[in-house]
Amino acid sequence: MDQTPEHPPSTRQAARELRVPVALVARLAGLVGQAMEHRPEALAPYLNAAEQSGQAYASQLLWSEITHEEQGVAEVCSRIRRGDVNDPITLRHAFMLLLALDGWSRVKVCDHPGCRRTFADATNAVSRRRCSRHARHPSRA
Ligand SMILES: [Zn+2]
Repeated sequence: MDQTPEHPPSTRQAARELRVPVALVARLAGLVGQAMEHRPEALAPYLNAAEQSGQAYASQLLWSEITHEEQGVAEVCSRIRRGDVNDPITLRHAFMLLLALDGWSRVKVCDHPGCRRTFADATNAVSRRRCSRHARHPSRA
């Protein structure tokens, strides 16, 4: 019992080893991103809170709102599965799910000069830097 323990993985590393399929997270980010573009006001309170008071506070705010909603979880999940996240309640749930699975890494601000639009990065490599309006390769869109 005098064996020295191996270096324990950091908490951050342990979280990364949850092994959520990238394709699942990317699809969710795609749904959230599309809805964000069509209804930028729907998630604005959380995005503003993240900018002004931090991501942890914004996540808490979102969670608190979700847990007070009357909508049945089964119905919300069914809508997310069908890719229909256009109503605000389902969108909030989809956004919370995205944050729970992948943190805020896919929520980005467009780096085009003067734009500052928020978008959700749905690429597998999480490498997008601009909103759909300023994407470098519009032909791919
Ligand atoms: Zn932009």
